[in-house]
Amino acid sequence: MPIPDLPVLPPTEGSHLTRKFGRETANYFSGSPLNRLSFLRGDRDFLRAAFAHPAARFLLLRGLAPLVPAADPARLAFAARADVAPLTGEDPFARSEEEMVAEYDSSEERAVVVFLGIDERGEVAVGQDGEGEVQGERERFRYRDFEGAPYFAVDVTPRGKLADAAEALSKVMEERGLKFYDHSPRHMGLVAGQAAMYGQARALIDWNARTPFCAQCGQPTLSVQAGTKRVCPPTDKAGGQVRERKPCATRGTVSNHSFPRTDPTVIMAILSADGTKVLLGRQRRWPKYWYSTLAGFQEPGESIEEAVRREVWEESGVQVGRVILHSSQPWPFPASLMIGAIGQALPGDGEKIYLGHDAELESAKWFPLEEVKEALVTGTSGLGEPAPEGYVEGSLRLPPQTAIANRLITAVVEGWWIPSRM
Ligand SMILES: [Zn+2]
Repeated sequence: MPIPDLPVLPPTEGSHLTRKFGRETANYFSGSPLNRLSFLRGDRDFLRAAFAHPAARFLLLRGLAPLVPAADPARLAFAARADVAPLTGEDPFARSEEEMVAEYDSSEERAVVVFLGIDERGEVAVGQDGEGEVQGERERFRYRDFEGAPYFAVDVTPRGKLADAAEALSKVMEERGLKFYDHSPRHMGLVAGQAAMYGQARALIDWNARTPFCAQCGQPTLSVQAGTKRVCPPTDKAGGQVRERKPCATRGTVSNHSFPRTDPTVIMAILSADGTKVLLGRQRRWPKYWYSTLAGFQEPGESIEEAVRREVWEESGVQVGRVILHSSQPWPFPASLMIGAIGQALPGDGEKIYLGHDAELESAKWFPLEEVKEALVTGTSGLGEPAPEGYVEGSLRLPPQTAIANRLITAVVEGWWIPSRM
């Protein structure tokens, strides 16, 4: 599969910030075409109207694999409301959050529905949708000052009482020439904006599926706010009789809900003290000659700059001085935010590589910028994909431009940190 393009930002040449810091970098998995309207997730009238509108489109995920046209897996495919109703119910947003909590019934099984946002510019599903109609010809959904096509994500993984309905839906989609795309666990073949939509849907559906119980008391929780919050209801009417559930601290006023997590991860290109080399490392399981930037989880009670210095020292022994932030990348596998940084090693012993602290890396090396520049042209591919045509066996291989590691390495090679380039 070819390496997709990156999201494109509107030009900002006149900006003082652009003059001082250079152009913003938009990484793959960002750049969603949707307006999320997060402040309307608690508005029942809005959600009901959006769900019921003929312009509404539904991204289906089965085992987190997205629905795509069988003939063009670089784009997402969408279903209509009638398709998903057997799993979601006809009117899943009929009740307010308070009513849902008060009427909680743990025996009720419904597919999680996530409101993704509104496509105001009508660019997501142009000329393509589950019913073979062209979306541009549809009436646009309007609510307050907002209009466009509403997008939802629905978890159609066959499970529990909904297994048969989910299987039947998969069959219908197959008959329409669509399939659930499970070729690559990272789904990094999607065109840029659609990758961002998929990332949002995947992260939230995965979080709902993996968080069925209250972290405080262990009782089952209920998904509310269009799939972006889970609550621990005080009662349960399973079996027709309302019974009190065990007390739970989350029902108090201090910490009362469970929200999706985002785990910050630092990833960094480290320059040598003289600025002529970059530090890259490799893990044992990677293909031969493949190197990338160092990375690691941000720890609680630590600044990003400190995490960069700590991770680099722990994994490679190199001591880093100045650190600057470059860009960030949502990484929904399952819930990371990659914070991209560029750092510079301290001179002399600061550059010494030592792998004895942490067994994570098989090798770490200083690569001359010229060699890395060449590898960016001849040696990039997806992890697990073959090396590109023209690659000479034995030379350096690097991640593709869809990975923030590639953007950081590119920035270093192009002298991103030198202010005079602007
Ligand atoms: Zn609880």
